[in-house]
Amino acid sequence: MSKPLGLVNRILPFSAVDGPGNRFVIFLQGCNFNCISCHNPQTIGICDACGVCVAECPGEALQFAESGTAIKWDQSRCLRCDTCIKVCPADSNPHSQWLEVELVLEKIRRSAAFLSGVTVSGGEATQQPEFVFELFNSIKIDSSLKHLSTMLDTNGSAESSTWNKILPVTDGVMVDLKAYDDKVHQKLTGTSNVQVLQSIQYLLEVDKLFEVRLLIIPGWNDQESMLQKTAEWLSQQSTNISIKILGFRQHGVRSEYPQLQQATPEVLEKVSSTFQNFPFKSIQLV
Ligand code: SF4
Ligand code: SF4
Repeated sequence: MSKPLGLVNRILPFSAVDGPGNRFVIFLQGCNFNCISCHNPQTIGICDACGVCVAECPGEALQFAESGTAIKWDQSRCLRCDTCIKVCPADSNPHSQWLEVELVLEKIRRSAAFLSGVTVSGGEATQQPEFVFELFNSIKIDSSLKHLSTMLDTNGSAESSTWNKILPVTDGVMVDLKAYDDKVHQKLTGTSNVQVLQSIQYLLEVDKLFEVRLLIIPGWNDQESMLQKTAEWLSQQSTNISIKILGFRQHGVRSEYPQLQQATPEVLEKVSSTFQNFPFKSIQLV
């Protein structure tokens, strides 16, 4: 049986912000949330070969594949101008590529000596569970790679059947909790948080929850009463949770959301002090 391919938006050979230590990060294309605060909105959609970017590309680096149902990108002609990303009506981009697991493994091997682990992010990492399983499983059985930890950065929307598929080869999961209040969560992401909360509970149960990440957007999810409820609910699940508090930044966010305000250090300190009242494993402000 042929191995699953991954639709990859981009690869970062070294990152210090996508999990513990120095990490190789694979950003998958495609997300089932539509967060208004997304810093990489070009990772959300799947290209439907509409051709808008082909017509606009100043480097003539894009053309339809023979099938007419995909776009071919000629990297040697690309001017890196990002015009294709700006004009794409589907929040996608034509630079994403279907990659074989073995090709990704080869790239990891080149930097393995300097790495602590591999993180799959997105887009949404759990939208391509077959690829993630194959990649992580291959890392676990490869003598030159098995020292690397395998982690997922996720919006938490996967159901237990998906978790069951990928957790046996996953060392830890970082879950974004956009808002504890479901109405606010729906406004921020377009989706309910019911499955996200269930995922947090499930990951705790199977001891795979590495951390819960809270992206603070002033005026949206920084109300004291909601933060209090968030901290209460999380601490009721377990006090053995690492919390990471991040401030929203406008960089990369779609131009139709100019109303979102950056989180000041004062706002983040206030959020942190609310969480300090609860006995979590750790609370990190970044
Ligand atoms: S970034 Fe996109 S639009 Fe610009 S040259 Fe490259 S493929 Fe063309
Ligand atoms: S990347 Fe976007 S603009 Fe280009 S063909 Fe695909 S959907 Fe259309």
